[in-house]
Amino acid sequence: KSDKQNRFHVYSPTMDETLRLRHTISLELDRALSENQLKLVYQPLVCARTGKVMSAEALMRWPGKEGQAGSPGIFIPIAEETGLISRLGEWALDQAMLEIKRQRTIPIAVNVSPIQFRVDGFADSVEAALERHGVDPSLLHIEITEGVLISHTDEAQRTMKRLRDMGVLVMLDDFGTGYSSLSYLQQFEFDGLKIDRAFIQQLEFGPTGRQLLKSIIALGHSLNMKVVAEGVETEDQAAILQLLSCDFLQGYALGRPDAADKLHSVTRPSELL
Ligand code: C2E
Ligand code: CA
Ligand code: CA
Ligand code: CA
Repeated sequence: KSDKQNRFHVYSPTMDETLRLRHTISLELDRALSENQLKLVYQPLVCARTGKVMSAEALMRWPGKEGQAGSPGIFIPIAEETGLISRLGEWALDQAMLEIKRQRTIPIAVNVSPIQFRVDGFADSVEAALERHGVDPSLLHIEITEGVLISHTDEAQRTMKRLRDMGVLVMLDDFGTGYSSLSYLQQFEFDGLKIDRAFIQQLEFGPTGRQLLKSIIALGHSLNMKVVAEGVETEDQAAILQLLSCDFLQGYALGRPDAADKLHSVTRPSELL
């Protein structure tokens, strides 16, 4: 065996260590939540035709947490494993509603974990929170990924229907990345779909990517959905998506996630103005 292999073996964490690390992160996250250290930042969704900010997505941040674990892409899945996600999710919904109340202008989209969505009474808790805060349901959007729908289809369907009957918009997040996005469009009525940024990045690699996006956008429209492009990083991408009749654009080119009071001063690609 070569030296390299041995070294790799020595430094690769065992299953136990990985579990312990995840457990530690979850405990720290729990404390950060209790000590009110977490915050939400907001990223604008911009109308592709007018350049106006139409809504904003709330994204969780863990200030002070160094390294990878401080990114929601890492700590949210950990919180889902340990069950902490329920409290985190309630906190995020509550914070988002406080923000809606503060500005009362644009809707705010909250990411809801499949685990939180599946909990009995999720729709009730949303309804109760809307009433408690006196927030107009049409100012709340909920983003779910298809993971929500894979099992417990009947329950998920009921929850979705209740939310939409209340007037809350439900968007299918990360469209195109899952196993069976298309079959879910048949079973569930979404208000909109968010095309995963992987497809937007494909725009640089020739006509196929563009054709695919065109088809996804047409599909969304034919099912009466609004279509959002995620991860729009360049003005070129924005211009193409605009030509393809995409409804809303989101990404660094339109505005980075930031404190709520920065929302109305986002810079937009010149093409959109
Ligand atoms: P997501 O819901 O797909 O959110 C979009 C992610 O893309 C965010 O990462 C955002 O900062 C990032 N992003 C936005 N524009 C661009 C761009 O132009 N280029 C690139 N490369 N990235 C862009 P973030 O904030 O790190 O969040 C990662 C994921 O963590 C989210 O993916 C979502 O699944 C989850 N998450 C974040 N906040 C929450 C939350 O409050 N609750 C739940 N359940 N999940 C959350
Ligand atoms: Ca999202
Ligand atoms: Ca997404
Ligand atoms: Ca995602």
